[in-house]
Amino acid sequence: MARIGFIGLGNMGLPMAINLLKAGHEVEGFDVSGAQVDRLVAAGGASAGSVKSAAARADVVITMLPAGKDVREVYLEPGGIIESANAGTLLIDSSTIDVETARLVAAAAEARRLPMIDAPVSGGVAGAQAATLTFMVGGSANAFARAQPLLAAMGKTVVHAGGSGTGQAAKICNNMILGVSMIAVAEAFVLAEKLGLAAQKLFDIASKSSGQCWALTSYCPVPGLVPTSPANRDYQAGFTAAMMLKDLKLAQDAARAANVATPLGAEAAALYGLYAAHGEGARDFSGIIRFIRGSGAV
Ligand code: NAD
Repeated sequence: MARIGFIGLGNMGLPMAINLLKAGHEVEGFDVSGAQVDRLVAAGGASAGSVKSAAARADVVITMLPAGKDVREVYLEPGGIIESANAGTLLIDSSTIDVETARLVAAAAEARRLPMIDAPVSGGVAGAQAATLTFMVGGSANAFARAQPLLAAMGKTVVHAGGSGTGQAAKICNNMILGVSMIAVAEAFVLAEKLGLAAQKLFDIASKSSGQCWALTSYCPVPGLVPTSPANRDYQAGFTAAMMLKDLKLAQDAARAANVATPLGAEAAALYGLYAAHGEGARDFSGIIRFIRGSGAV
């Protein structure tokens, strides 16, 4: 069983850390919010008190932080993980961040003989609680092999995507597909309404035709067609529009850096930016159909 330092005990990190406890590992946690650390302690974990002690006492350090700047701070600054961890400690960053930061931090870690993987997740808070997350992993085969059993305690699907940064690349490419396809599905249903085509009929036909996709059949933005869809509960998230916007912006940054044209990704980022600016950032991302409809029900 591993001694794990877990940094970033938010909506995702806390249930992930609790699943590691349930699997029999020792978990010492740190978060700038003391209330989150208290929740880990109440679940049987321990408080590390600082990033430094979380890193210094662990065989494995896992981070689940909001953004790239937080990851740079927690790993690279004096008293951070890279300075404080003992050689050989495995570092796992599960935050969703830019590819460039993921590669920069992994290179700094490996220069100190600290194997590191980027392992962002898909599956949301429900997946984190139920230990059914999908992990997309970038890093060496050896680091992946060491991390695999720990990731399996927090998720159902664990895929080695390739070298450092490819986990983050997989995450932002997947979510660019999702953002674009959700908008396409929403536009099609709004057009169908105007053309006198019933939503149920469009669903029945498109879900068995070439328009079939996850945004349509698993997460339909029109209420009443897919039982689990957030559309049935006034678009309560789920996966928020703000999170989708964050991932679409990361995809745009990566596309610019790689000199790749992604015009639909850019349009999706602009639309989600407008939707969030209307005060809907905390709403589920499928709620964008109301914005597209222009019904005033945003
Ligand atoms: P969150 O804001 O709930 O949690 C982040 C935690 O990190 C907070 O508790 C915060 O206090 C802590 N933190 C921030 N800076 C810190 C620091 N310097 N040291 C220690 N702790 C610090 O966010 P979340 O929803 O748990 O998301 C975490 C990551 O997972 C993000 O990168 C997000 O994009 C990604 N993600 C989230 C979801 C989701 O549905 N929530 C799904 C997939 C991926």
